[in-house]
Amino acid sequence: MRAYRYIALVAFIVSTRCFGQWAVFDVANLQQSVTNYAAMVEQIAKEGEQIANQVRQIQQMEDRLKRMGNMADVKAVVGFPNLKLDLNLPTRIRLWAAQAANGRGIFGDTRGGVFTAIPDQFPDFDGAMVEQRAISLDIALQVVSRIKVLARMDIAEKRLPQDGQLMLEPSGQTVHLRASTFPSSQGEKLVLRILFGDSVLSVEQLGLEESAMRMMREIVRRPQGFVVACGPTGAGKTSTLYALLQLVDTRRVNVVTLEDPIEVELYGITQGQANVRTGFTFASGLRAVLRQDPDVILVGEIRDAETAGIALQASLTGHFVMTTLHTSDTVETIVRLVDLGIEPWIIANALSAIVAQRLVRVACEDCRELHELESDLRNGDELLLPKGSKVVRPRGCVRCQRTGYRGRTGIFEILELDDEIRDLIKAKSTSRAYRELLKERQVRSLRRAGFDKVTAGITTVEEVVRVTV
Ligand SMILES: [Zn+2]
Repeated sequence: MRAYRYIALVAFIVSTRCFGQWAVFDVANLQQSVTNYAAMVEQIAKEGEQIANQVRQIQQMEDRLKRMGNMADVKAVVGFPNLKLDLNLPTRIRLWAAQAANGRGIFGDTRGGVFTAIPDQFPDFDGAMVEQRAISLDIALQVVSRIKVLARMDIAEKRLPQDGQLMLEPSGQTVHLRASTFPSSQGEKLVLRILFGDSVLSVEQLGLEESAMRMMREIVRRPQGFVVACGPTGAGKTSTLYALLQLVDTRRVNVVTLEDPIEVELYGITQGQANVRTGFTFASGLRAVLRQDPDVILVGEIRDAETAGIALQASLTGHFVMTTLHTSDTVETIVRLVDLGIEPWIIANALSAIVAQRLVRVACEDCRELHELESDLRNGDELLLPKGSKVVRPRGCVRCQRTGYRGRTGIFEILELDDEIRDLIKAKSTSRAYRELLKERQVRSLRRAGFDKVTAGITTVEEVVRVTV
């Protein structure tokens, strides 16, 4: 019994030393059962090690971002200059910052006083969920309240979801953060996403094949057309459209977007924030936009038949329209548009190309290991990878937070419409007819595209299977 008390005392001292004025547990915790004490001591030792590791990682990350020229952003986030939490927890704040600058955003989940990192849409980094360490509930609540004030939310409202934006302006550079709250049964959950204003990906950075890149360049240059990027949430659809917008010469071409939310502020174009509450829907916004006769229109997402109808019609009347749809692949996109009740001839004539996509994590360059497949990898009768193929196996190191992955890249299935497909659409064909045609033409499926990236050593079999199920 005495030994355990001793351990508990050590635990308390260690925790106090590790975290400055704030201790991991309070006095009440010290009266918990003896087994808990032993576990906690172990936990604290681990945490100390993690802090050291993470501080190292922050330094490495700062170096890396400095090379990328994003240093101002990172400093802004690391410093949290406007937050003024007065917690005297530099280490703790820095750890959140590590998450933030890692592109995952800072995510607070008050459940059990645990802060967790969850994936966000920032495509340059992997979106895996990494649990951060426990933080006491009262501090979590303070942080949530403070951020709500900064994001101009109603601080007293805890039962309804809210969203807002906050801006940090350290060293003259503005960093935008989008904040949203969600009332969970355990308390309010807060998510912050960093809007990296100057890091829109170029078409070259998306992960497209050379030929696909050429095709997209050629399509975007046309005066009219309709491009749909499809995939589930977090598949990088918006990044793709933003990258395509970079190909447009905005000095000569009038570009307007309708988004919800505006994820990145782009230079030289007009961006509109749709707002259903005020009646500024995609459909009504799109009608208003069309009265101003822009050349290129980006509609954040097609959610209903009305928007789809107006957008497709717009492309037939001399506009270039880009949008996203929550469908899993190119064939499903066509079928969905037909199912929405839009005249097949409109779809057939308007559509230029469909880009189905997913994001896969990139195997960490510092720790990836190659090994040979011991047997053929098949999907039904399709041979995905033959026995003996060299594939990457994730291992994990300090630089990739032991996940084996660092960064993300896109895999794509691209369908450019031609007369044969247009005829199928006009004939209201079933998805089987499209799939047979795609197979005949050997259009690379998402999975095939993924496995090509596996054999190139970029990602792993597991990743491709995970995102293409
Ligand atoms: Zn690694």
